[in-house]
Amino acid sequence: MDTPKPRGLSLPTRILLGLLVGAAVGIALNVLYAPPLGDAKSEAFVAIEQVADRWVKPLGDLFLRLLFMVVVPIVFCSLFLGVAGLGSVQKLGRLGSRTLLWFLGTTSLAVVIGLVLVRTFEPGRRMDPAVAAQVQAQYLGAAQERITQAKGAKSGLEMVVDLVPTNVVAAAGDNKQVLGLIVFALLLGAAATQLGRERTAALCQMLEAVYELCVRVLGWTMRLAPLGVAALIFHATVKLGLPVLQLVGWYFLVAMGGLVFYQLVVITLLAKVFAGLSPGRFYRGCRTLLVTAFSTSSSNATLPTTIRTAVDEFGAPREIAGFVMPLGATMNMNGTALFEGVSVLFLAQVYGKDLGIGEQLLVLGMAVLTAIGAAGVPGGSLPLLAIVLTQVGVPPELLALILGVDRLVDMTRTVPNVTSDLVCSLWLARREGHALR
Ligand code: ASP
Repeated sequence: MDTPKPRGLSLPTRILLGLLVGAAVGIALNVLYAPPLGDAKSEAFVAIEQVADRWVKPLGDLFLRLLFMVVVPIVFCSLFLGVAGLGSVQKLGRLGSRTLLWFLGTTSLAVVIGLVLVRTFEPGRRMDPAVAAQVQAQYLGAAQERITQAKGAKSGLEMVVDLVPTNVVAAAGDNKQVLGLIVFALLLGAAATQLGRERTAALCQMLEAVYELCVRVLGWTMRLAPLGVAALIFHATVKLGLPVLQLVGWYFLVAMGGLVFYQLVVITLLAKVFAGLSPGRFYRGCRTLLVTAFSTSSSNATLPTTIRTAVDEFGAPREIAGFVMPLGATMNMNGTALFEGVSVLFLAQVYGKDLGIGEQLLVLGMAVLTAIGAAGVPGGSLPLLAIVLTQVGVPPELLALILGVDRLVDMTRTVPNVTSDLVCSLWLARREGHALR
């Protein structure tokens, strides 16, 4: 992108600084003023929360909305142009099947790692039942909300039928559920490969222009990122239940440890093996992507940045990045799958239910499916987690135990959610004979 280079610190460095400053101030205020679990809030803390809610959160929301604003046009243009640019339905089939293989393979691996970690460290058995009851009481209302959302969830077949929108304009109206739009863009792109280049050239040119415009707007938005990220992180950390974090410490350590391990070891290895990128090169190119995913907690909001990273930082062809990323942002969530595996087994342990191998396989299958179905928005997987809990006979109300710390876990799981998409597109680019930068 040819936006002028700002003088001084580079943008990724400034975004990182925003993250560090927001986190430091938020955590400091939380440590100094947040009341212990169950105690009333002090006047000072109420005032801090008010400032965070009324003045800082709107800044973060503005940044998020600017990111979301371009999601629908970018999904449509990049998928349509991606598929049309592939040139043939055969190539689409080849890329599509490899993409699905990657999604299923890495998502399953992530759940297995989560399950093994909980079986090894047994965080649920280390939790005092009295403490568990106390934490659960505090967050029961929030858990009920997720359970109610889960009750509205569709069955497997209904979900497949729902993939096809009856009204594509309405489907494009909700940028949190972009699957319908994805299906429409995929089909239209496939049809374009059959009509031939001449008949679709004008449309492609127009969509290219729309895409370029959105990328330009994204470039402006990212200039606000240092401030937006600082605001989002500040709000999240001020509100973070630090006392709860201590109480569910073992769960938190296992979930976060698993996610950090998955990102730093598994994804780094995948990047090396499948995309031929050294860790240094990979993470240098990913800096902005990592901070955006972490601070927004949303694969969808990060989607334009994910495409931009693949194309601008690593030199992947736009048609491949444009094909893989929109699918990945909605369907490929490795971090979410690992988190689901850890959470279900942890809550089963707290409940005193020993899940046998058959039930663990059920958790594996359900976690993979629900990670595919979860919306790429903050907390998008929580209602689906309630469904998995019910399926294995664990009361979904126990979700209350992990909600107090979920924001931080959500931010962390969103990172491997998007980096897995990135590596997948780089792998496919290489396989199709494109040299990466
Ligand atoms: N926040 C996650 C994402 O957008 C979804 C989730 O696990 O709740 O990727």
